[in-house]
Amino acid sequence: MPYRNGQSFVRARQRMVDMQLKPRGIDDPRVLAAMAEVPRHLFVDAALASRAYQDSALPIGEGQTISQPYMVARMTQLLALQGNERVLEIGTGCGYQTAVLSRLCRRVYSIERIRSLHEKAKRNLRRARHANVMLKCGDGMLGWPEYAPFDAILVTAGGFASPCWMEQLKPGGVLVFPEGEGGVHRLVRRRKLADGGIDEERFDACTFVPLLAGVSH
Ligand code: SAH
Repeated sequence: MPYRNGQSFVRARQRMVDMQLKPRGIDDPRVLAAMAEVPRHLFVDAALASRAYQDSALPIGEGQTISQPYMVARMTQLLALQGNERVLEIGTGCGYQTAVLSRLCRRVYSIERIRSLHEKAKRNLRRARHANVMLKCGDGMLGWPEYAPFDAILVTAGGFASPCWMEQLKPGGVLVFPEGEGGVHRLVRRRKLADGGIDEERFDACTFVPLLAGVSH
């Protein structure tokens, strides 16, 4: 076991997988294994640890939230990672989704616009010893051109796609993001086709904190 966990959290996590994820169609064995392993309670404030495996989003400070476990698993499954990908995440937050991704691909590049959350994610991910993660405090609307192109891009704040994202995807790569405004979003998956075209599919209705431009110090 790479993490030192109380047995009760191991059981709570397995219950989360069995009761919240499998019945709702999460069936990628690698995603289920990552969700059963990453210690979500270490990514929220100690006072919220006992609620970490509940079927809900939780506050992480600065008015932001860690997404509900099902939504983290759902978005991760839509990326269909095989293990060798380089993935860009927009919206590091507390770093929980980053930790899940890092178990499923070669390297995760994650951008957060709020400095205090970027610092929090750095501490959380260091504690969980995730070595294949690079974090940056910046505006994710710009992507991360120095490391492009990516095999997949995941956005964890709701809004409208930045043109930079499709530009920074490899042909065949996918972008998954919650599209919409006013807290009313829908998960969208766009694939960049080899001929330059774009294929789009629409999935669950959902609610995310807003995608905002610029950096907040
Ligand atoms: N994946 C996170 C979810 C955090 S909520 C987790 O597991 O905790 C979404 C995050 O996106 C917030 O922290 C918010 O500050 C950030 N965000 C919003 N717009 C952004 C942008 N343009 N660039 C980078 N981060 C952004």
